[in-house]
Amino acid sequence: MSTPIAKLNFWGVRGSTPTVDPVTWRFGGNTPCLDLVAPDGTQFILDCGTGLRMLSNRWSTDNSVRPAEAHIFVTHYHWDHIQGLPFFAPLYGENNQFHFYSFRSKFLGQDSLRQVFEAQMALPYFPVNFSSMRAKRKFRELEGGESFHVGENKVTARWLNHPQGCLGFRIETPAGTIVYATDNEPGDPALDKSLRELAAGADIFINDAQFTPVQLASNRKGWGHSSWKEGVHIAREVGAKTLVLFHHDPDSTDRMVDNILREAREEFDSVFAASEGMLITLGAASQPVQAHLPGSRTSLRREAQFRALVSGLTSDGKPFQEETTVRDLALQGALISLKHSPRLQSELEVVMETSGTNGRQEMRLKGYVVRLEAGVEKGTTAVGIVFTD
Ligand SMILES: [Zn+2]
Ligand SMILES: [Zn+2]
Repeated sequence: MSTPIAKLNFWGVRGSTPTVDPVTWRFGGNTPCLDLVAPDGTQFILDCGTGLRMLSNRWSTDNSVRPAEAHIFVTHYHWDHIQGLPFFAPLYGENNQFHFYSFRSKFLGQDSLRQVFEAQMALPYFPVNFSSMRAKRKFRELEGGESFHVGENKVTARWLNHPQGCLGFRIETPAGTIVYATDNEPGDPALDKSLRELAAGADIFINDAQFTPVQLASNRKGWGHSSWKEGVHIAREVGAKTLVLFHHDPDSTDRMVDNILREAREEFDSVFAASEGMLITLGAASQPVQAHLPGSRTSLRREAQFRALVSGLTSDGKPFQEETTVRDLALQGALISLKHSPRLQSELEVVMETSGTNGRQEMRLKGYVVRLEAGVEKGTTAVGIVFTD
């Protein structure tokens, strides 16, 4: 029998409000939405931020990945977690079926999530009539604290510390366990303990990392969010294997997220900063966790050839230097082939020799590894880089 595999896609990773500022382009500006395909084929969606539209587009362009049925978990009702709903095209198809899970808000009362739908689509806020949403929808109210099965997978919901309430979810699949705990502020002893129980031994622990530790301790206290440092503490304490920093602040530039990631990596081995289009595969034989970043971010490449000296860190954290030829080069990035396998989201320096009218010149560029794939030649890795300088 083949090994069970689960696939986790990140469609929106930004907190609070979407951003289209070019300085936030690399990690992405859509608000929270993930989808998880469990080994038994069960389709989960976590949150319905603007990233949900990206998932909708993916399903409309690739019939092979579009299910007729999905289980949608909504952590809470703040705008950034629901505003993608009216733009999720499969909700308009009468042959589709969706199971929604969320909690009863004391501000909305019974059928909270159903009311969210109706309110979002009420005139004059949205031009399409609510009745044109033809998909079958079932709503389940969670209490926070319960566990239940969806297909072969066990789901547990727990309360987090966030204004007006928020649920964290643990999904145990035969390929591994994913914990999604966003919109949470540390400092409430009972809820802090509960989060640790939720995250215990997780393969992937997705945690709110909106603020820096300094911001969290000062002017952003009480806003309902966390920092990379808190995520690292919890991951260490409960033996989570990989930490994913999530819900980036809309005012955090890509450089700021790079710095946050760098600091987190100094204290914990396996950390990624959630990035739009990132895919994590669980249960693959060679590595417990594989993450791939999207090709679209390096897709504006042009054929060119330059000799280059590349220096960076391998996936084991060892420094390396290697000569290679840069074939695809654009203003934003390049695709190079290396014998070393650099670490995803680590920094690389590429020194290229160019010959122009002034003779030979050296071009020194700094960039980040955004994509890793098996290279065309055996034993090589194709490395996608986005330049930052
Ligand atoms: Zn949020
Ligand atoms: Zn929130």
